[in-house]
Amino acid sequence: MKTFDLPGADPSKNKTEDDDLKFSKADFGDDFCWGTATAAFQIEGAVKEDGRGASVWDTFSYKNGKIKNNDKADVACDFYHKYEEDLKLVVQLGFTEFRFSISWSRLLPNGIGSVNQRGIEFYNRLIDKCIELNITPWITLYHWDLPQDLENRGGWKNREIVNWFKEYAHLCATHFGDRVKNWIILNEPMAVAGLGYTTGLHAPGKKGLWNFLPVVHHLALCQSEGGRVIRENVSDAYIGTAISCSFVEPYSTKPKDVAAAKRADAVMNRLFLEPILGLGYPVDAFSYLSNIKKYMLEGDAERLKFDFDFIGVQNYFSVVIRHSYRVPVLWLKEVPAKLRNVPITAMGWEVSPAGMYKILKQFSEYKGIRDIVITESGAAFTDHYVDGEVADPEREAFFKQYLAAILKAKREGVNIRGYLAWALTDNFEWAEGYSARFGLVHVDFETQKRTVKNSGKWFSEFLMDKNV
Ligand code: BGC
Repeated sequence: MKTFDLPGADPSKNKTEDDDLKFSKADFGDDFCWGTATAAFQIEGAVKEDGRGASVWDTFSYKNGKIKNNDKADVACDFYHKYEEDLKLVVQLGFTEFRFSISWSRLLPNGIGSVNQRGIEFYNRLIDKCIELNITPWITLYHWDLPQDLENRGGWKNREIVNWFKEYAHLCATHFGDRVKNWIILNEPMAVAGLGYTTGLHAPGKKGLWNFLPVVHHLALCQSEGGRVIRENVSDAYIGTAISCSFVEPYSTKPKDVAAAKRADAVMNRLFLEPILGLGYPVDAFSYLSNIKKYMLEGDAERLKFDFDFIGVQNYFSVVIRHSYRVPVLWLKEVPAKLRNVPITAMGWEVSPAGMYKILKQFSEYKGIRDIVITESGAAFTDHYVDGEVADPEREAFFKQYLAAILKAKREGVNIRGYLAWALTDNFEWAEGYSARFGLVHVDFETQKRTVKNSGKWFSEFLMDKNV
């Protein structure tokens, strides 16, 4: 693991000099893409409308106690009906790119087999509206909402999912590929394997370490096979996959802490990236991963590779890791940000622009990565809606600091091509329900009224190319 200094700043304090925070849109270059990101289950609502089948998140959110306040996403931001209004907000904020995911069970209510034409029509309307408004659409194929019927057959534990996923990817490519050129295959597969199938904090709520390796392998296969399906069926496609990553710092220089940090780095940053690049799973830092061989068939090492046009970097925070005898297999634990006297967001995550810079530099060391697109970046804070205004100075500062860190990395040669802010609107934040707000636009979930937050106004000024 390498460490990188953030020039002109003291990374240990996570502060950038004032001068570093003075930049304009033009500094990123004319061909840099600016957009916002969303995900189907978090915004669409209309879960039972027009023939949509249930997903694992529908089932999970109906189990008592799984989601904060037992919130449900049946309506969410009602994007299914309000997409035109929301796309106009994208334009109003000055963005030109819009990332959304397809709800697999809206197209294929049972996951495979019969196609729901009304689902196809919805995404056609959405794509056409983007184009009409001069917004470039970016499709994420999989943002965690597996059709429930496929989960009933073992979900990500069943290797058959590779065929199910290819069928679904093919359907999307052939229906939307004439107009959509930017594709993201999977969103943060590590969250699916870790939270969905190991700790059970996310849908489908499966617990047990024995699930982890087969689920990882099947996700990694779908990542590359999905890329191939899009490549074969969409002309001029720009194909990537989105990976969660966090710069990992060891708690001390003690060899046990350093080794623990390397294991965390292998799981958090390398696990889904290195197989694509032909480097295999990172067993050098975490030998337990060698057990994944049990789930590999002949030819899989080759099958895991795919020449992606870009890697989607999703970095929210950095972590400090120390050795622990209490956590079997991993033998490590995180030192929580709140105990480290660092600024944190409402999620308890460290505000760490230096971590963003360092992880970008770490990723830029891989020869096989072509472009990097920041496919998500943002923060939850406690927002206050007062008299039609949402003042969110912390979020505004967050964006400025993270963008400064990204610009520094870009100036030093890291090939970063775009930035998609998370998220356009407040939405259903998975296990946190509606309690955590990430939007540039505030949503009153009682009335569905949208109000652009001050951070959103800041973005629109910035994107009009004013110095900020
Ligand atoms: C996910 C989003 C989520 C965001 C904030 C990312 O891990 O892709 O769906 O809302 O983080 O937690």
